Amino acid sequence: MATTILRSVRTADHEERFDLIIVNGIIAGKSAPGTASGNNIIDCSSLYVSSGWIDMHVHAMESYQPYGDNMDEIGVRQGVTTIIDAGSCGADHIASLAQQSKEAATRVLAFLNISRIGLGERQDELCAEEWVDENEITTSINRFGSFIVGLKARISKSVVKNEGIRPLQTARYLSDKTGLPLMVHIGSGPPAIEEVLNLLQRKDIITHYLNGKKNNVLDENEQPLPEFLAAIKRGVHLDVGHGTASFSFEVAETARKLGIHPGTISSDIYRGNRLTGPVYSLAQVMSKFLLLGYSLVDVVNAVTTHAADWLGRPELGRIQVGDEANLTLFELVQDSIELTDSMGDLRKAETIIKTRGAIMGDKFYS
Ligand SMILES: [Zn+2]
Repeated sequence: MATTILRSVRTADHEERFDLIIVNGIIAGKSAPGTASGNNIIDCSSLYVSSGWIDMHVHAMESYQPYGDNMDEIGVRQGVTTIIDAGSCGADHIASLAQQSKEAATRVLAFLNISRIGLGERQDELCAEEWVDENEITTSINRFGSFIVGLKARISKSVVKNEGIRPLQTARYLSDKTGLPLMVHIGSGPPAIEEVLNLLQRKDIITHYLNGKKNNVLDENEQPLPEFLAAIKRGVHLDVGHGTASFSFEVAETARKLGIHPGTISSDIYRGNRLTGPVYSLAQVMSKFLLLGYSLVDVVNAVTTHAADWLGRPELGRIQVGDEANLTLFELVQDSIELTDSMGDLRKAETIIKTRGAIMGDKFYS
């Protein structure tokens, strides 16, 4: 029997420390700090534990340039136990992504790009109608089942070129037909953001909602567009999707003041923005939300319970006796460090979240 003890750990929402007991990869219980015994004791006296982090927006197709990376480098090695590939692949290559996911330690799920070509060869995948093939999409969904959690449509000018709103109308049709929600990337127009927002329904995701480009969700007086408020009211989910170009401190500060908060904090990480910024890691993106004034509980919920709820997989967002261990260990480090957004805007942080490991079943990754 392999018993791992997370010695004197705490959660973000309770100050008391405890020993968390994991037996053969299953959460077995907890006890007063310092009291549990086992053959693998991990000193967690400066650490927090949460259910395993979920990154709702990553690019995990290893061979893709620039929008690709190694699944475990952006997953368990960064303390993230579940990553959701945000439409790197369409019907042509989703089989390859699914295959790679079986070899990864990280749990991988995917949005299927409605364009069959995805982001592999070029990045204007929705500029030609013939790349959206309903039959191929249906076949992929039937073949890969729960691996596919939604459909992805990148609706900004560089992707749709002269097609305007039409690719999103097609995406809406496909979503209604398949019952899978949409993740819609927003950015520079055309199409106009109002047109985009009006087509989104409950459970659809707006990713990059804090982008600092023109055509974002705020008007020139920094007020939320009525179409944006209406979308939120309909139950549209807000996802950060930081990325290289899609997170602005200013927009995030304004949104927070307006009471518009993220459903999920995600990274839009891939090799380039992992190695040279401004993303680096999901932990670093989360640290920016601490800096904005969100509590640690809010920030952690935005990568755990909120994401698990959206996925309809509550077991991924809890620590419960009898469940397979799916945990992230992290620390709050006091350090004076400059954080940069996607606009090159700098903010000085005093507290940074650093991951110290991930536990999936009986395996520990750091
Ligand atoms: Zn992306």
